[in-house]
Amino acid sequence: MRPEFLPFHLPSISDEEVESVVAVLRSGWLTTGPVVERFQREFGVYIGAPYALALNSGTAALHLALVAFGLGPGDEVIVPTLTFTASAAVVTHCGATPILVDICPDTLTIDPERVEQAITPRTRAIMPVHFGGQPCDMDPLLDIARRHDLRTVEDAAHSLPARYKGRTVGTLGDITCFSFYATKTLTTGEGGMATTANPEWARRMRSMGLHGISDDVWTRYTAAGSWYYEVLSPGFKYNMADLAAAIGVVQLKKVDRMRDARVRIAQRYNRAFAEMPALEIPVVRTHSESAWHLYPLRLRPECMTMDRNRFIEELKKRNIGSSVHFIPLHLHPYYQRTFGYRPGSFPNAEEAFERLVSLPVYPNMTDADVDSVIDAVQELTRQPVG
Ligand SMILES: *Cc1c(COP(=O)(O)O)cnc(C)c1O
Repeated sequence: MRPEFLPFHLPSISDEEVESVVAVLRSGWLTTGPVVERFQREFGVYIGAPYALALNSGTAALHLALVAFGLGPGDEVIVPTLTFTASAAVVTHCGATPILVDICPDTLTIDPERVEQAITPRTRAIMPVHFGGQPCDMDPLLDIARRHDLRTVEDAAHSLPARYKGRTVGTLGDITCFSFYATKTLTTGEGGMATTANPEWARRMRSMGLHGISDDVWTRYTAAGSWYYEVLSPGFKYNMADLAAAIGVVQLKKVDRMRDARVRIAQRYNRAFAEMPALEIPVVRTHSESAWHLYPLRLRPECMTMDRNRFIEELKKRNIGSSVHFIPLHLHPYYQRTFGYRPGSFPNAEEAFERLVSLPVYPNMTDADVDSVIDAVQELTRQPVG
């Protein structure tokens, strides 16, 4: 057994990030300014998106996207049930209604057929969530959106960087929202980014993300700015600080290297677990490249002596952290109480949830760390003899 606890996640922070933050602290300018502007510019170039807006969370990005679309009471947004609550909560922040749908049982991403079935005259947008880092099957979703005149906002909190049929996530739908929360594949501690090719949505998000102030709000934060401004709407306070962007610009330079490290770990897990009857390795579509933010392993408890919860406890006893992504939204009290969902509403997500366990997958893991996870998983899932 490994002697020290292996956390489920550790961020990759080097001296360079530390020095970058210290430089901002010494600069006299802590909030939105030149470093945020640089981070946005470099992120947009990296993704290939004409507009990139840095914000103080991925949730803020999702909310602003819906605000930019002009969503309000009476509108519906289709969201997969296997996601984090933020995906659906921002819909309610607009006064609109999240309509949950089930996932594909193999890839765990939103099922385009269920999306089409869920469309009503009130539907205004679809929110594909690129679960674990794997892009949703975007072509059918974009086709549905075109045919029904719906907007698409992608929850790309897990998928930096990821590709779908050679196209980078962040350039596929109308607006894409990334998260830089501490556990995500690029972190600024807390932070997020919205990308789009549409100048009008970009302008609305920028204004509504900073108090609904008109004009070029950014000039207020530079030497060129003046004291004058006009408030056009009751906006939000969602801007990113230079302090956070200072971490982001350094992280962005190594985002591909960090992804390669996660891919290598995922491949080692895949090789070790593929032939084990008690384990189901993650399915990635042949034309897609996952960011491998998560390694969502599924257990087959009928081939084991324990269930998923016990498995997690046993991993912990062996000094290995793990997690579960996600408790489907329709199983939470709020969504049941408010929208009438029940256990059984979305069988694919529930069946997956019962068996899912996310293993550690992050660049700081050593080969010995990966070996220790593999050993523990194999020990716990080896078929009982006879
Ligand atoms: C992390 C996460 C978010 C929210 O991002 P924050 O930056 O924490 O606001 C949204 N959706 C999913 C699927 C996430 O995992």
